[in-house]
Amino acid sequence: MGLEKYHAKRDFRRTPEPKGKVSRANKHRFVCQEHHASSLHFDFRLEIGGVLKSWSLRKGPSMDPKVRRLAVPTEDHPVEYLDFQGDIPAGNYGAGQHRIWDSGTYELLDDGKAKENFETGKLKFELNGKKLKGTFNLFSLGSGDQWLLVKSKDEYANGQWRLELLIPDKNGNRFIEKKSAGPKRSKDPERGTVKKNGEPVIRTSAKIKRGEKLPSIASVLKRRELKGDLRAKVGESALQLTSLDRVYWPKENITKADLLRYYLQMSKHILPYLKDRPIIMKRYPAGIKGISFHQHDVDSVPEFVETAALEAEDGGKHTVDYIVGGNLETHLYLANLGAIERHPWHSRLGNLECPDWFVFDLDPGEKVEFKQICEVALISQAVIDGYGLKSFAKTSGSRGIHVYVPVKPIYKYELIADLAAKLAREIAKQSGKAATVERSKSARKSNQIYVDHLQNAYGKSVVAPYSVRPKSGATVSAPVTWEEIQKRSFNISSFTIENMVDRVAQIGEIFRPVLKRSQRLENAFDTAGASWK
Ligand code: MN
Repeated sequence: MGLEKYHAKRDFRRTPEPKGKVSRANKHRFVCQEHHASSLHFDFRLEIGGVLKSWSLRKGPSMDPKVRRLAVPTEDHPVEYLDFQGDIPAGNYGAGQHRIWDSGTYELLDDGKAKENFETGKLKFELNGKKLKGTFNLFSLGSGDQWLLVKSKDEYANGQWRLELLIPDKNGNRFIEKKSAGPKRSKDPERGTVKKNGEPVIRTSAKIKRGEKLPSIASVLKRRELKGDLRAKVGESALQLTSLDRVYWPKENITKADLLRYYLQMSKHILPYLKDRPIIMKRYPAGIKGISFHQHDVDSVPEFVETAALEAEDGGKHTVDYIVGGNLETHLYLANLGAIERHPWHSRLGNLECPDWFVFDLDPGEKVEFKQICEVALISQAVIDGYGLKSFAKTSGSRGIHVYVPVKPIYKYELIADLAAKLAREIAKQSGKAATVERSKSARKSNQIYVDHLQNAYGKSVVAPYSVRPKSGATVSAPVTWEEIQKRSFNISSFTIENMVDRVAQIGEIFRPVLKRSQRLENAFDTAGASWK
């Protein structure tokens, strides 16, 4: 630990910041500073090992345990910085207004020493500040350059809490925007076109440096032994890969490199299902047995990642920046973040109101046998066929089967959802006691299949075909033919990261008709009759 980086970045004749030195005392102090630099952020600092270990939080801390704040480590600061506030003049590093937003002491709650826990990337502490109080977890997501700060559930936790700025931001706002987890319907016909009313997503440089010779991603992933971090060329961009030997599936000893290899080999098959669609991430930075969390909104992405700012659930005051799928760089970048699955929306950018498929998720209770799932899948096909519509099946990669109905994207979600509900009721009815549309899990029997049609709504998603699942065996959501279902020539754990490439080579693109989006629904609406809604 030292202050070399801190000193190298600053000219102390031109900045009011303290030069400072490494201290011998350790008084377990903390500070959280509001910093109106080129982009507004908060600096969170803990006194550890004679310096202030520092993280930059774009949206500041939160007292709401449901909010996870990305914390990007910055250089160590001297303890003298605990008292610093002032205006850093233009031309200096971090120029802008800098204020102490909160300060106090912290108490470590883990065993061990703060310095050791910092080095292993896991800190749990209680803050005794004026605003920040109670237990917090601050932990690394693995690669070291991304940590999360999360409030624990305790007597100080507050789901209604909002961070108030000391100085209004450049738009005059006193509050850091509170973004919700999902998007909302709006009456705005333009929705789906990219509108920016939040802060722009920060673009990190993914450029290949002049004179830099990077290996291609294909040649990198051909290597048998892959360890640690490296940069590879994907298209015209540099992709940073981290912790390649991290084990994601411990029982099978399948690593992050194996996941990347699978997604590279399968890219031409899976990318068409992701193209132009907002993607919901579920991240497993420590593999399938570790912590996981959903992420809709991104703050900072490499240049090659396309994003779309969609309205959040607060009347359109704020936006959620979604990653948009379709290019290989983004697809592999997501895998590197520990996003094992691909969860695309049912509709595409530019026409987000109208899905181009709808889905029935046949979700079996614990005591349902595979035979029964296949029977209900075949009943689903027959019911849908009775409405003049073709359907296509894939395994969920977990225990169920997904039945897709491709449609021409000219019908709004509400209309489709109503038709799907009607069809689901009919599927359940024709299946006798084997299936149900009962939403409440406790009201369903363990030998029943839930015909889930409720994912057919704006902002929802179902796992994409060929997506890997965070399940034992590294199973894949695999398209299957109706004939295979009839013959039951597979079982639900048959298709994995190990054999999917060969299967597609053998049987081809059996799910591709789903992308042709040609089926119209007028006849189906007629069949459903006047009272179908
Ligand atoms: Mn700062």
